[in-house]
Amino acid sequence: MKARPSFPAKLPPAGGQTAASLSPKAAPVHPHPAAGLVARNGLPSPMPGRSSPVSARPVSSGLGLDSSAVRARMVAKLAEQGVQDLWVLQAMGQVERHRFVETALAGQAYEDTSLPIGLGQTISKPNVVARMIELLRQDAPGKLGRVLEIGTGCGYQAALLSLVASEVYSIERLRGLHEKAKKNLLPFRLPNVHLLLGDGMLGFPKGAPYAGIISAAGGDDVPLAWLDQLAVGARLVAPTVTASGHQALVVIRKTATGFDRQVLEAVHFVPLKSGIA
Ligand code: SAH
Repeated sequence: MKARPSFPAKLPPAGGQTAASLSPKAAPVHPHPAAGLVARNGLPSPMPGRSSPVSARPVSSGLGLDSSAVRARMVAKLAEQGVQDLWVLQAMGQVERHRFVETALAGQAYEDTSLPIGLGQTISKPNVVARMIELLRQDAPGKLGRVLEIGTGCGYQAALLSLVASEVYSIERLRGLHEKAKKNLLPFRLPNVHLLLGDGMLGFPKGAPYAGIISAAGGDDVPLAWLDQLAVGARLVAPTVTASGHQALVVIRKTATGFDRQVLEAVHFVPLKSGIA
């Protein structure tokens, strides 16, 4: 992997916005993301006309009084680990990961660890989630357009995507998790997230072309439907079994004439399966 310059390397566009606002025009411009992403009361500032979109009702989280401080530490660590995209860091600082896992696991929500979400599935560790969204957004000057997520799971990544893309279509094949994600996301009130029950191997042609496609489940190959549904210039990020027989992150960029494919670091994702269950 290419060495990345030290943080902060690039800032989202300014335009006189406040640091904690969520809209593209209100992208964060702050020297240190961990500090800049947390607003008064430790909660992100609300968008006009609705309550804070990435924090749910202020019920006890089991994390003590201020989960935003714990998140800020997580964000600082992500930055140290090489995540540079401020859109990604801001989203990671704002979405309350502890609300997407079982209460008994809430205390581990901001550690760099994957966690079970039920039905044998797992939510990836924050570092991997941030890395993948950063790869998806590579070269994007601002907010991404419409994106497709394969594998909604508990809905955590969909919530993050809702802050860095204009529309999010997220498909889950397991009814139980589709329902769980709906329930988890409801209090966040994210009108740009569309949850679908279906086989993500087919993509979602109605929303195509996508400015990005991201999969949270790994197959032996990337389904052709995803390549078809990608816009020219857009990227697909997916764990895929490579020639060595191991799973690695694969990034495919659609060009006017074909596809550029990059195989990156080894990862361990749950399998991509066909059909609905
Ligand atoms: N992004 C999720 C991670 C979920 S784990 C989160 O933030 O929680 C990966 C998910 O992919 C699992 O829920 C699994 O059921 C789902 N999955 C696997 N194959 C799929 C397919 N063909 N279509 C849709 N979802 C699929």
